[in-house]
Amino acid sequence: MPEAPKNTLKPTEYNLAEKNKEALQFIEDVTTHADDVQKRVLSEILSRNAHVEYLQKHGLNGHTDRETFKKTMPVITYEHIQPEISRIANGDKSPILSSQPISEFLTSSGTSGGERKLMPTIEEELDRRSLLYSLLMPVMNQFVPGLDKGKGMYFLFIKAEAKTPGGLVARPVLTSYYKSTHFKDRPYDPYTNYTSPNETILCPDSYQSMYSQLLCGLCLHKEVLRVGAVFASGFIRAIKFLEKHWSILCHDIRTGTLDPRITDPSVREAVMKILKPDPELADFIEGECGKESWQGIIPRLWPNTKYVDVIVTGTMSQYIPTLDYYSNALPLVCTMYASSECYFGLNLNPLYKPSEVAYTLIPTMAYFEFLPVQRNNGVTNSINVAKSLNEKEQQELVDLADVKLGREYELVVTTYAGLYRYRVGDVLRVAGFKNNAPQFNFVCRKNVCLSIDSDKTDEVELQNAVKNALAHLVPFDANLAEYTSYADLSTIPGHYVLYWELSLKGSTPIPPSVFEDCCLAIEESLNSVYRQGRVSDKSIGPLEIKIVENGTFDKLMDYAISLGASINQYKTPRCVKFAPIVELLNSRVVSSYFSPKCPKWVPGHKQWVQQ
Ligand code: AMP
Repeated sequence: MPEAPKNTLKPTEYNLAEKNKEALQFIEDVTTHADDVQKRVLSEILSRNAHVEYLQKHGLNGHTDRETFKKTMPVITYEHIQPEISRIANGDKSPILSSQPISEFLTSSGTSGGERKLMPTIEEELDRRSLLYSLLMPVMNQFVPGLDKGKGMYFLFIKAEAKTPGGLVARPVLTSYYKSTHFKDRPYDPYTNYTSPNETILCPDSYQSMYSQLLCGLCLHKEVLRVGAVFASGFIRAIKFLEKHWSILCHDIRTGTLDPRITDPSVREAVMKILKPDPELADFIEGECGKESWQGIIPRLWPNTKYVDVIVTGTMSQYIPTLDYYSNALPLVCTMYASSECYFGLNLNPLYKPSEVAYTLIPTMAYFEFLPVQRNNGVTNSINVAKSLNEKEQQELVDLADVKLGREYELVVTTYAGLYRYRVGDVLRVAGFKNNAPQFNFVCRKNVCLSIDSDKTDEVELQNAVKNALAHLVPFDANLAEYTSYADLSTIPGHYVLYWELSLKGSTPIPPSVFEDCCLAIEESLNSVYRQGRVSDKSIGPLEIKIVENGTFDKLMDYAISLGASINQYKTPRCVKFAPIVELLNSRVVSSYFSPKCPKWVPGHKQWVQQ
């Protein structure tokens, strides 16, 4: 198997060109021998885990070949292994899924029963994640040279973590990575030279973390060559924060003193190493931020920025116009594709337009299979999505090297950490090949109807939430005739909007407070990722209900039929995105109400908190 490039050189003998060459050669090797590498990855995973309970239960009997694996092992979703996951979470340390100890759970933004899914991980997975990170800049350097001569201004954050009843830590994958020695004690590398000191990234208070990262980024503005965050939504949140706080930030820069609201001693110490009184810089920033238009604020404040590094594929594509506005259309670069289950791959053509971005899966990361997906009129067949696969369908999964150009597939992974034939829930389209490894456009995440940040709300969750809210209308003899929803990004942060058409039988008018209660009831019923976004990350604004005139949904149907929908098959869409439809709905709004406060949220699963 091709060897991963190792960072064994001491800083003094650091040879960037050599290291870049090694990384690119690694990509060449694993993509050229994609099928062999995959065969070996599977055999390695299965041989080291031959005695784990899960493989034995399914009768794999120590076989490590693809054919027996595919014949014997079922293709599963999270719900299938929830009993095993619960046992591990409750403290069962026997080899249930993996022969290596589960070091922690990574909490996914995908949910099950309203709570984040728990993905098992093992210590060595950190090396695999680090490997993928180490490939990103050598690739980028081919297209934008000289990035080693300055810094990256990245807004990176940790999130709350919890402990399972059995004592394992449960936290998001990036929190785990930033807190690991792989990140904190990374050897000197001009490519991981960030404006944010580690202490500011690792500060658990999101206000202090954001403030101090922006302050350092502003102080070092001339050195910044690239800016970014993980997802587009996070980067826009930073700009919004700047819009609100630039005058205190400038005060700090002018005087060389740090605002007393920054109380974390380690953050203060780290920032004070960078912050020096600089009235000229403060004048400059005040001058730019005080102008009426914020168009192009990124290159105005950070004039040497060459690109914005944020994920804008998938649901994040909704933020492209806002990013273009603030960046004056600097290139938007999506570098990698990863998840809590496993890191998948990277973009070998980082300057491609967002709509053309394709990710090359790195064959050493996991064993990948692909379930062919049929979509009707651009809509994923949701029946196929929900049900378990029958034997014939399980046989239809194809290997990495066998996918066909232009076809769409759902990604299925077998990981070193103990997931076997696990459906990730992402739909990918084959856009081309790098040697013998396919490159995929990210098409969509299955079943997601609303998303602002990392929240992913599906139709069933929305339906249940609406049902719970309707209890508030019962005393008024009012029914919900129809509803739909929309992710409104015209506010920052964005928020969910529900359009309600009511049928009123009672004569008592419904007071605004009742609709506000409905808003809150919906929020309380949504999953914990949504509620965390509202409460802790402040990345989602208060939910809004807009009451529309009677007959609005008939108009919506007329409009859909005029566009070619069949009358017999027409169903009200539970979520809308198409601008003319949103306009039609907005033109018929009679009143609107917002959630009056944040819903409840605590870190960790609610069952753990109650114990
Ligand atoms: P999480 O479950 O929180 O670990 O999030 C992982 C999911 O985020 C993936 O399965 C994708 O649905 C989405 N995701 C990650 N990277 C990308 C990307 N580059 N483009 C689009 N979606 C992505």
